[in-house]
This record gives sequence, C-alpha cells and structure tokens, in this order.
Amino acid sequence: MKKIAIYGKGGIGKSTTAANISAALSQQGLKVCQIGCDPKNDSTRLLLGHLCRRTVLDTVREGKEVTLADVVHSGYNGIKCVEAGGPEPGVGCAGRGIIVALEKLTELQALDEEDVLIYDVLGDVVCGGFAVPIREGYATDIYIVTSGELMSLYAANNIAKGVRRFALRGKVRLGGLIGNSRNMPNEKELLEAFARRLNTRLASFIPRAAVVNRAENLRQTVLQYAPDDPQAEIYRRLAARLLSNEELTVPTPLDFEELEDLVIKYGAAD
Ligand code: ADP
Ligand code: MG
Repeated sequence: MKKIAIYGKGGIGKSTTAANISAALSQQGLKVCQIGCDPKNDSTRLLLGHLCRRTVLDTVREGKEVTLADVVHSGYNGIKCVEAGGPEPGVGCAGRGIIVALEKLTELQALDEEDVLIYDVLGDVVCGGFAVPIREGYATDIYIVTSGELMSLYAANNIAKGVRRFALRGKVRLGGLIGNSRNMPNEKELLEAFARRLNTRLASFIPRAAVVNRAENLRQTVLQYAPDDPQAEIYRRLAARLLSNEELTVPTPLDFEELEDLVIKYGAAD
C-alpha cells in the first residue's frame, strides 16, 4: 500500500491536486482512498460532487457506535472519501480532531484494503495534530504543494522541517515538491532551485489553468470534466510519478534569510 500525504499552505491547491491525483489513480484501476485532514472539510468535494455530509468527528460526536458506512463515502470511480472533520469554529483544537479521526479509522480497519491512501493535510503550521499523519506513520511519502510566493515557500520549508524531524527517527520521507503555479516570473526555475536546496525534486509544475476552475464550479476534477485537456495529462503524469517515485529523501530545510535570498534572486532575474 502506498501511503501518501499532501501538505501545503491553506489555499495553495492541495485538495484540488489531491482529488485529481486520486481520480487519475482510480482510472488506472487502483483502489484509492482520500482522507481530508483540514477543518475546511472540503478535500473530497470534487470527488463526491458535494461537500462531505458527515465527517468522522461528526459521527464520533454523536456518541453512538461508529460504523464504516458512517465515515467512508463513495466518490467518483469508487474512490473512498473520508473527511476527518474539525471543531466548531472558535471551539477546540483542529489538530486534536485529526488524531481522534485517524484513530477511529484505524480501529474500524477502514483503510486496510486500499492500494493508495492520500492524506490531504493543512500545513501552515506543523502543530501536534497536523503532524500526526507523519508522526504516527499513517503516511510515509510526503509531498508539499507550493507556488513560488514567499509565504507559500515559507510554509513548505516549515513542513520540510517537520518531515526532517520525523524522518530522522522513522520511515517517513519527502517525495518531492508539487509546484502549483501562480504565474510568477521564473517560478519553475525558483521551485527547481528550492527543491534542489531542500535535497528533493520538483515532482510536477502544474500550470494555473481556467479549466481547473470550470471543473470546480461543476464540483468535478479535471480528470472527470475534461479528460482530454492537457491539464488532465499533467495530473496523470504526476500521479504516475507518485506511484513510481523511489527518490524519497530526508529534507534539508533552509533558514529564512536563505529562503528570502532565493526568492529575490529568481524574482530579480526577470
Ligand atoms: P487547499 O486545499 O490547499 O486549501 P484548494 O485545492 O481548495 O486549496 O484550491 C484553492 C483554489 O485554487 C480553488 O478554487 C482551486 O480551484 C484553485 N486552484 C488550485 N489549483 C489550481 C490551478 N492549477 N489552476 C487554477 N486554479 C487552481
Ligand atoms: Mg483543501
């Protein structure tokens, strides 16, 4: 079983990318489960065709016995969709919610028969709860979605620090960066340089494309909405890369000044 986690700053494109990867893998005949670990609870929206109506935490909170059917929902092409869920806004810790939800999934043996698990995890900060997929071995191959914007790189670098910490004592490794373009000058070159410096690779450079938004408006992945579009092929290639990737590394994060210098160097080269 391949156990992948996709981390990155809020709004950077984790769920969109994860859902397209899941769709691509399912089209290859693989059994895929996508697990949203973000209190936004919208990781699986493009696969389900609607917002998940029942998160793991919703069900746990009801206090009755939780069954698989309560928490695992069937999405596009039979992809299993799970949302960990989060606290009511303003109350409680979202990270804690992830811990409870993932423990419940393990207890139910919900994920034992899949070929690929994809955890979609909010990672502005790698606080205790959000580090759980890495720390507790739920995921072993970590990918970080980032654009060339400084704050996105800053979040990516912090996530790499978290991965490094756990990589030094366990099986978790960084599989690569996933560049999600914001159409900045020299963005791909910057991301390639950042990846090299982090001791990893740029697994894909995904163009910013209107077809992604058109598909999203219909609550679909690009793979479903426009399978012949070049953007669909980009996601298919990324999915294949994730499956076959054997270059998993212990990352070497930068200090903030070095990160700033890198951004200035490539931004100024325009
Ligand atoms: P996250 O899960 O990281 O919070 P989302 O996947 O929800 O982010 O994406 C945020 C927004 O960016 C969505 O409206 C999504 O459609 C859009 N988006 C993501 N990737 C692309 C892309 N490559 N091209 C165009 N829009 C994109
Ligand atoms: Mg998301």
